[in-house]
Amino acid sequence: MRVLPATVSPFPGETVRSLYNRLVERNSLTAGELWTAIRKSKQGLPLRTTPEAAPEVVAQLDDLPANWFDRDDTTNRLFSRCIHNNWAHAQCARCSALPKPATMCRRCSSGMNVEVQSRAGAFCARHKRWHYDGRDEAIGFPVAYARAERCLTGTLWGRGIGLDTGEIELACEIISTYREFVDRDNSTRSADQRLRDFYPDAVELSAFLTAPSAQAFLRNRQIGHLPVAAMVGAAVTAVASRSRHRLSSVHEMFQASGRELRLGDPVAKPLRHGRSLEIGELGGLVRDSVPRIRAVFLRHDDARRPLPTLRDQPPRHR
Ligand SMILES: [Zn+2]
Ligand SMILES: [Zn+2]
Repeated sequence: MRVLPATVSPFPGETVRSLYNRLVERNSLTAGELWTAIRKSKQGLPLRTTPEAAPEVVAQLDDLPANWFDRDDTTNRLFSRCIHNNWAHAQCARCSALPKPATMCRRCSSGMNVEVQSRAGAFCARHKRWHYDGRDEAIGFPVAYARAERCLTGTLWGRGIGLDTGEIELACEIISTYREFVDRDNSTRSADQRLRDFYPDAVELSAFLTAPSAQAFLRNRQIGHLPVAAMVGAAVTAVASRSRHRLSSVHEMFQASGRELRLGDPVAKPLRHGRSLEIGELGGLVRDSVPRIRAVFLRHDDARRPLPTLRDQPPRHR
């Protein structure tokens, strides 16, 4: 197809749909009109407007190389462990997934609605704006949010954890339980509100629970639910108190070696698995969630197989 009269510059990681919508707007068309034209030029496309089904045509319309959307660029992918990198966490062109599409900061995109799949979270440190799911909101404690954003796109990304892989969401849920309990705060928050309100704490809790020492603890099946609930309870309390010292002491408190478990107090003798522990009220609250906590916070470490490529997929029914 011919290049459209007005083209747009793609943002790094911009999705096919986002570029399509901007082209439509720029050329004063409707999404349906442009799709009808594309369907006339290419056989076998669905009736419903689905630019993802014709990425090469969308690229051509914007005067970009036809393979613009399927380059082997790995920079935005989440790290994963696979055979191609000796099972170490790496950004593999065949196995590592892209994060789910997310809306870009409205100020970074000069006011346009842009959707990208890139190495980013929900907060723009440059403009101090919360941009999750199309929002453009000011944040009261930008320093804490900027730190969380750095941790998410640095440490956590390197472990294969992004905004949509489940860990941050569960961490928000746990922090929310803690807040309800400590502040006697009974306001019910939606998942989006929890993410916005608890972002810094949720990122820090996720980083703690996916650090090597906590991972060894969670992975050790000799350790029952109770000590895990105690560890999570202590970690949440430390994170919420914003005390680095307290968090590092939780690290030291819960060091598991073999079947034995050391608990905090240096003079305490190693405790045998199964003996009742002081798990605290918060530990009691998260106790029933321990199987899910274990599953979600260990998942990023699973080895991956190559993702299905277009060639591997069965032909679509037409
Ligand atoms: Zn691989
Ligand atoms: Zn921005």
